[in-house]
Amino acid sequence: MKRTRSVKIVATLGPASETYETIRALHEAGADVFRLNMSHGSHEEIAKKHEIIRKVEEDLDSPIGILADLQGPKLRVGVFANGSEELVEGAKFRLDLDKTEGDLNRVCLPHPEIFQALEPGASLLVNDGKIRLKVEDCSSEHANCIVTTGGTISNRKGVNVPDVMLPLAALSEKDRADLEFVCSLGVDWLALSFVQRAKDVFEARQLADGRAAVLSKIEKPQAVENFDEILDASDGIMVARGDLGVELPVAAVPPIQKRLIRKSRAAAKPVIVATQMLESMIESPMPTRAEVSDVATAIYEGTDAIMLSAESAAGQYPIEAVNTMNRVAIEVEGDPTYRDVIVASRQAMGDSLADGIVAAAREIAEKTDIKAICCFTQSGTTALLTSRERPFVPILALTPLRDTARRLALSWGCYCVETAKVDRFKGAVVSAARAARSGGFASETDQVVVTAGVPFNVPGTTNILRIAPCDERLIYNTDPE
Ligand code: PGA
Ligand code: MN
Repeated sequence: MKRTRSVKIVATLGPASETYETIRALHEAGADVFRLNMSHGSHEEIAKKHEIIRKVEEDLDSPIGILADLQGPKLRVGVFANGSEELVEGAKFRLDLDKTEGDLNRVCLPHPEIFQALEPGASLLVNDGKIRLKVEDCSSEHANCIVTTGGTISNRKGVNVPDVMLPLAALSEKDRADLEFVCSLGVDWLALSFVQRAKDVFEARQLADGRAAVLSKIEKPQAVENFDEILDASDGIMVARGDLGVELPVAAVPPIQKRLIRKSRAAAKPVIVATQMLESMIESPMPTRAEVSDVATAIYEGTDAIMLSAESAAGQYPIEAVNTMNRVAIEVEGDPTYRDVIVASRQAMGDSLADGIVAAAREIAEKTDIKAICCFTQSGTTALLTSRERPFVPILALTPLRDTARRLALSWGCYCVETAKVDRFKGAVVSAARAARSGGFASETDQVVVTAGVPFNVPGTTNILRIAPCDERLIYNTDPE
């Protein structure tokens, strides 16, 4: 789907967006990638959504990325005899392994590993941080706490333990089963929740075995601390501001967002800014000024993608939310200040031949009247490097591999086209010119930049840069074989 913006939009699917009509309308309105949240819904429901997305993709002949978000080791308390209890500040409250129903004095926390790792003084945050408990004394089976911020605690509420590096496997039994299931369905991206270190990513990568790219959600202080090694081990990053803002003071989130975006961009790996972007649109057709500003800020920072969660999954205005993001993106990207910011934030390139070629392609395209940068890519690496340049002309990523086209749906500025396999340079230039014309990026009298690697179909060989006419007769007359 041709877009008039470079930043990408990820929309989470849920009860508000599970029919063919809605999913198609979301894609047409601007959603480039759909997120399937494995914390909700049966495998049957996930398979159904997956099938509908692939049908929309086929009907519109437009590659769509699918991101399956694994629940990860989310901690939850057990259940209460009364369903809920009111904890007041200063009261004592005990967490233990006893499975009997909880009351005003205690509840089960069915995670023995947590008790092993807890220390007096550690904070436990319940229900998105609304309730705070401080550990006074603990053993391998219990923790006696003081309520430092009171509130209602109820059945199976989530628990965050920000101060402690948890000895948890990054993937629970459920995550492993979900991972295998979504990989066999054919998703393009796996998102890992509550990653703490690079090792967590290696494990998932090994299980995925190349069937999906792996994206790390940064939502724990340990992940912020270990970010460089996590980025190195991942194919992409999500700034998961929901849990991040619970585990760290909310005021710490914006600077972290900026830093993660910069580092991900420098590494040529796509980064998503997620959670509460248009939160009020769950119930209102109009966003708040602050939300619009938040979306705009992420775009000015050069993020690859912005994400909708409940707004598109469970809200009343999923299409309007996508429309809003789309409109904000067009406005920001048309602003001369945005161009200044992007130019100033371009980072020194690496020293490979491919780095040099993509930088030259951008330079030529921007200095002359070139309509698009067309890059032939196998693994997607050349397209990612071109995207890192953040050029002000569209990037046409041409690939014979459908999986590559779908993964690149998440990357800034990449318009992906599946092409027939080419093995001659002339054929490559012809198909680039055709794609530029039929995508509406160029007309017969225009020129495009084409980058490719010869020999063809060998990843990592980008070594050609050609300024090509879009008129096929000229290509046949002038180009070498
Ligand atoms: P979640 O992750 O929606 O799966 O919790 C995103 C976040 O925490 O921001
Ligand atoms: Mn989260």
